[in-house]
Amino acid sequence: MTILEALNWATDHLRDQGIDNPRLDAELMLSHSMHLGREELFLRLRGRVIEEERKTLESLVRRRASGEPLQYMLGHQEFWSIDLKVDPRVLIPRPETEHLVEEALSILVKISSQNIPSVLELGTGSGAIAISLAKEVRNIFIVATDLSEDALMVARENAKRTGVCDRIRFVKGDLLGPFRSGGAFDLILSNPPYLSDSEIRDLSREAKDHEPVMALSGGEDGLAFYRRLVSQAPLYLKEEGWLLLEVGIHQAGHVCGMIEARGHFQKPARIKDLSGIERVMKAQRRE
Ligand code: GLN
Repeated sequence: MTILEALNWATDHLRDQGIDNPRLDAELMLSHSMHLGREELFLRLRGRVIEEERKTLESLVRRRASGEPLQYMLGHQEFWSIDLKVDPRVLIPRPETEHLVEEALSILVKISSQNIPSVLELGTGSGAIAISLAKEVRNIFIVATDLSEDALMVARENAKRTGVCDRIRFVKGDLLGPFRSGGAFDLILSNPPYLSDSEIRDLSREAKDHEPVMALSGGEDGLAFYRRLVSQAPLYLKEEGWLLLEVGIHQAGHVCGMIEARGHFQKPARIKDLSGIERVMKAQRRE
């Protein structure tokens, strides 16, 4: 079998099984099976695929066709140009979460010119957000929490691989539970679990059967974590500190209402993602 034949076979099989982007997945799986870069495949389309590589490809195609996410099978996902290790212990970082990183950086750049910013990230999962910030801002101190010890193991490994573990402390705990109140942080940020029960029921099989449900489920209406977070956050922020939250589709209005009702914050701003969905909420604590 040639590389071209293997690619065509895998693509057709994945397409028949209803997998999105079958060609791209086939290329990534074959390049993984052959330990070759994707571009090298195109340079050798007539090259042979040996028996062992073909078997590896077949088993990957079978797993993908049954709904396993490619990122878990290959063991990594790129986020903010960082190659992160991912496995079923953590949610696969989504591209829209890069908007949260962007907004956080715009806040941190100003603070870091005068002070070492202290940042708290709640529910870090693979560590994607904290690690991106630590990579961009050299003088920063981040505390990143998660309720799952398993997730923290992945996050620590990712921080180490990226060379930023000296700037991040990982702590197991439930939201602000592990901390004493008293205005310590310049920025508290989170991409909490925010899907409602009905959204969980309608999830793709990739997510429903393979990703950790505790990283996705925000209770019956999806807003459970925002209620707790918004009520606790002002006690842990410095004066003029920032709260930055990723929100799900149609949630910005609700979360904005919670922040306004809580008091202690200036009027929140809502930032849209590339699909025009209000994705990030940003609010500054009043003096
Ligand atoms: N954005 C994810 C999804 O739609 C949900 C992530 C989350 O709950 N924070 O699958």
